[in-house]
Amino acid sequence: MVLLRDERFLPNLTWHEIRDLEKENGVLVLPIGAIEQHGPQLPTVTDALIAERMTMLALERLQPEIKVWRLATQSYGKSNEHAGYPGTFALSASTLIAVVRDIALGAKLAGFRRLAFINAHGGNTALLTMMARDIRVETGLLVFTLFSSAGAQDPIEITPEEAKFGIHAGDWETSIVLALEPELVHMERAVKSFPNYPKSNNLSLTQGNAVSAWLTRDWSPTGVFGDSTVASAEKGRARLEACVVKLAEVLSEISTFEIPGAVDG
Ligand SMILES: [Zn+2]
Repeated sequence: MVLLRDERFLPNLTWHEIRDLEKENGVLVLPIGAIEQHGPQLPTVTDALIAERMTMLALERLQPEIKVWRLATQSYGKSNEHAGYPGTFALSASTLIAVVRDIALGAKLAGFRRLAFINAHGGNTALLTMMARDIRVETGLLVFTLFSSAGAQDPIEITPEEAKFGIHAGDWETSIVLALEPELVHMERAVKSFPNYPKSNNLSLTQGNAVSAWLTRDWSPTGVFGDSTVASAEKGRARLEACVVKLAEVLSEISTFEIPGAVDG
């Protein structure tokens, strides 16, 4: 999204202005999401929307002296776990690796020292973690990966079932989009859908002694993991506030981060 007077949106600036930015202390951020199915009630733009809006809201909270600029959102991500549902547009891993590397190179050539990926899609996480190290090696940039919620505690109490399996289009995401763009949410189609995962102390979809590679269509015909019927805009506003405050705090720290004794960067 282009905001006319948003000076933290780097593409609004001219190349002379970007050349002359004070980049010694400062960080360039790339919001990254996905365009993929999000159940019968949420738009496919959900993850791209969350990445972009949370980044924008966090940047609005920063003190003027904190130098953080955002790039245009990388809307498409690695979403092949949601293949088979119309509206999922997944980049292959090799494509996204190439995109992320090229954007990082642009940051380096423009003279930035720090780059942060603000991610709102779990399917991107492993790839971004891997690429952050490769980019560090290849460019000398200081690279950071973080989720758009920036590790903020959920201010809303949730059920153990939601905590374990509410990983996609459930209470959390549905509430967040209700707070951001309520007209895009169809609560009359909201569903409660938890995977019938075999009981095991070792095996899990997300965390366990062994994690099974999951495809949404194996476990959820609706595309939902979680209970989206209990979502509300009020919960979403509380969650957004917690995330935005935390994200601004984390970005402020990143903007002046240094490695003591580093020989490059
Ligand atoms: Zn999502």
